[in-house]
Amino acid sequence: MARVSILGDMPLRVPQMPVQTVVEFINEWATVPQEVSTRPWEGYPARDSGPRRTLRSIWPSEIGEPDDPAVAEACDLVYLVFTDAWPGSAAERLNAALADAGLRVHLSAGDEAIRLEWATDCPERLMLAVLTASLVDYVGQAPQVRLGICESSACADVLVDRSPTRTKHYCSARCQTRERVRAYRARGA
Ligand SMILES: [Zn+2]
Repeated sequence: MARVSILGDMPLRVPQMPVQTVVEFINEWATVPQEVSTRPWEGYPARDSGPRRTLRSIWPSEIGEPDDPAVAEACDLVYLVFTDAWPGSAAERLNAALADAGLRVHLSAGDEAIRLEWATDCPERLMLAVLTASLVDYVGQAPQVRLGICESSACADVLVDRSPTRTKHYCSARCQTRERVRAYRARGA
């Protein structure tokens, strides 16, 4: 691929995004959340949407920005980290994603310090690499935080459960209210 040769032998540094942006990408681009949602799908978010703007701000200029199908493919892979049993299977999924994205640690020297960074030799998988590296770094800093899925029957969005008891059931107040109403009606029937 021609664009790889621009980089020569230098490894491609993999930038990172906040975990909240990873969540937004998966919930807007992955296939399952769209299929389960009862809201009609309105297509992928526009180029000036929040997740796209964040991606553009970190994406290396020498690589073309991924189109929507490429983003969706990466999001579908990372979605599995959230659906599998936490923590054991989620850790295995992250290990698999690290391998798929060709991610490895790269050390770079600044003036007075050595910095630990992520790099990949697979520029064509950079979107998967960005999502995975961002998640791995987040998990490294917050190992007790659970990665899961909304339990509403009308939603399959991913969530980051920061509750001390790891008992967050719904991705949003909207889903929580919907399920409360459903339970209330079921009791009344
Ligand atoms: Zn939800």
